[in-house]
Amino acid sequence: MPSAASSAVADRVLAEHGSWDAVANLPIEALTAALKGVRFPNQSAKRVHGVLGAISDKVGKVDLSCLEAMDTPAAIAWLEALPGTGRKIAAQVVNTTTLDRPALVLDTHHLRILARLGLIGEGADTAKAYDALMPLLPPEWGAGTIDAHHTLMKELGRTICTPKNPKCPECPALALCPTGQTLA
Ligand code: SF4
Repeated sequence: MPSAASSAVADRVLAEHGSWDAVANLPIEALTAALKGVRFPNQSAKRVHGVLGAISDKVGKVDLSCLEAMDTPAAIAWLEALPGTGRKIAAQVVNTTTLDRPALVLDTHHLRILARLGLIGEGADTAKAYDALMPLLPPEWGAGTIDAHHTLMKELGRTICTPKNPKCPECPALALCPTGQTLA
């Protein structure tokens, strides 16, 4: 998910320029200056410029309302065709915006836990993991529940199922986890 700092910068840039179309039309140097506060403003400016420009080229303006009429797989495929947009960002857009779709955001913490649980293969990429996991989620889970699930998995990965020396004896998933049962 975007960090609070990145979200704050995005809100500020939008407020300063009035619309995403205006942001898309900024020269790269101005966009880089506007993105002061994010970690890598130069790279971020190029990425933002590329993706806003691509949306504008596709639909005539920086507007994702065309996604509302699409089912979730089609909306994700549409987003993934944008430059620099993989499954994580596409899922995040459809899940956490007003589209409000059940789509699982998978970051590195989440992927590591899923691999240790044996639900995906070691080194599975985000799109493969998403395709494997989505059918396993309870059908009654809506966008908000899936977002909350991701937040909890991320916290588990940050605090207990850490990259090195996972604290398996403290883990609530230990009984389900073949890796944990080997390590604990
Ligand atoms: S039991 Fe250990 S390896 Fe398995 S999910 Fe928990 S912390 Fe990670």
